[in-house]
Amino acid sequence: MNDLKKIALLTSGGDAPGMNAAVRAVVRASVYYNTEVFGIYEGYKGLIEGNIRQLSVRSVNNILGNGGTVLRSSRSPEFRTEEGRKKAYSELKSRGIDGLVVIGGDGSFAGAHIFSKEFGLQVAGIPATIDNDIAGTDYSIGYDTASNVVVSCIDKIRDTALSHNRLFFVEVMGRDTGFIALRSGIASGAICIMMPERKTSVEELVALLRKGYRNKKSSSIVVVAEGNENGGAYELAKSVREKYNDYETKVTILGHLQRGGDPTCFDRVIASEMGVGAVEGLLNGNSGFMTAYQCGKIHEEPLETSYTQKKQLNENLVKIAQILSI
Ligand code: ADP
Repeated sequence: MNDLKKIALLTSGGDAPGMNAAVRAVVRASVYYNTEVFGIYEGYKGLIEGNIRQLSVRSVNNILGNGGTVLRSSRSPEFRTEEGRKKAYSELKSRGIDGLVVIGGDGSFAGAHIFSKEFGLQVAGIPATIDNDIAGTDYSIGYDTASNVVVSCIDKIRDTALSHNRLFFVEVMGRDTGFIALRSGIASGAICIMMPERKTSVEELVALLRKGYRNKKSSSIVVVAEGNENGGAYELAKSVREKYNDYETKVTILGHLQRGGDPTCFDRVIASEMGVGAVEGLLNGNSGFMTAYQCGKIHEEPLETSYTQKKQLNENLVKIAQILSI
């Protein structure tokens, strides 16, 4: 172990359930390894403003199962500037902090990496975003919880759809990626999953719905990622209605429901593994890595992977969704 004495941590970008479990793990692992630990409130904005407090084991009591982030999060345009990052570094330096853990998405990691290279600070990233769009890790903290929230909502929608021969368009989060849509669509038996990465025309969708109707499907659910190229759920429902009306059509936008709620067991466990992994990596003298989850194990992946590569959809899941929707 190297001579790192003080670690600080922050949560940044979009919040995700399970961030608190990661905060707890970083704090407890730091204390376990006799390293002082500091919480930075409101992400990079709080770092620039010096909104930093020392934490103890007891500071993170009873947060493991709570959604959101007790450290709060923010977006900080100032941290994108050299001037902003200089101010941020002086806040760390004046407290003798030599290691930083950033819990967030690829944008937060890009910032952390630049910061680390500019000032020779050791940094570690913990991937957390409900979108699961961080390249280099199979799972990001929050994705499992968000997908489970979506599935539980669609199960409820299915009850009413079945009772009335209805066609539901359910819009889920995913401006650029279809990870939530794909996973929750498979788990809830969607007839079609509309994702930004896959082009499905309105004509193809209508053909699928007609086939389903002929096959005596009494209800159909179409899961639509918000970044779908034919528009969100409202636009899509309108376009379909113009061509096809065997079913009564309804639209549900799940919105910010997907960000909240208690983290699932899976998210709590990977957050705990990643939090401990980040601290151990820093204490081993490593820097510029994120704690990535691949094939059931946590490893250190270069931070660059997260912001220079685009994460691809799992093609096997795309195929499975098609096979099972007949
Ligand atoms: P996420 O981490 O969820 O992807 P953002 O992309 O909004 O969220 O990034 C969060 C914050 O990280 C930004 O508000 C900014 O302060 C910082 N950041 C993002 N990209 C950069 C960058 N290229 N250089 C410096 N800071 C960045």
